[in-house]
Amino acid sequence: MASLELTRLWKLHETDEAILGLQKRAAALDGGKKFQEAAKILSAQIAAHPYRKAHAEALDLNLQLKSTEDKLKKLDKDLFGGSVTSTREADTLQKEIDATKRQRDRLTDRLLELEEGQGPQKAEMDDLQKKLDQYNAAAKKAHAEALVQQKQMQTEYADATKKRPELAKSINPGLLARYDGIRKKQGTGMARIKGGSCSACGMNLPEKTILGAKEDKVVTCEACHRILYFHEGL
Ligand SMILES: [Zn+2]
Repeated sequence: MASLELTRLWKLHETDEAILGLQKRAAALDGGKKFQEAAKILSAQIAAHPYRKAHAEALDLNLQLKSTEDKLKKLDKDLFGGSVTSTREADTLQKEIDATKRQRDRLTDRLLELEEGQGPQKAEMDDLQKKLDQYNAAAKKAHAEALVQQKQMQTEYADATKKRPELAKSINPGLLARYDGIRKKQGTGMARIKGGSCSACGMNLPEKTILGAKEDKVVTCEACHRILYFHEGL
């Protein structure tokens, strides 16, 4: 059996370990960041996708086509509406009508060309969009879960930090200072003796050290300098 003081110190150590574990868990809390990053990459891919460019061009071409057809209608009306007074004027109008028709044909050809390529591009885009929706949903879910976890951890952290001063008060100040000094250097201040080894660093402990621990002496691991705790039940 370890001395009562070492048992109390072990309790403090367990609380400190719990606090440390909570801090690590809080720092590692992702909250859907990985999904958010993946969604960001996908969004950029979608924004730069050729389908979008082709789609924008098609919209523009359709507008141009509409105004070209309006122009043609007006020219036809001018030509055949009875306001033309000379052959020269009629020739000029006819030439303009021909040029406008050629312009209309060019626009129609380009639109057809775009439409042909749009099928597979659209399928690809839809696929990317579907993936993006999935990532966004996963990010939202992970974020909500992280909030729940965070709240839980905050409660546990508050409990542990509240408990700590009481536990620390029960330890001899000299031993406590020694323990805190090791803790600052090593992260944790104590280790168990397990199968003749230090449970923290795995170092094989000399008989003398194990015997010392069994005799309730404050002994430390030669390798990691943590205070060793021996308990039959452990
Ligand atoms: Zn050790």
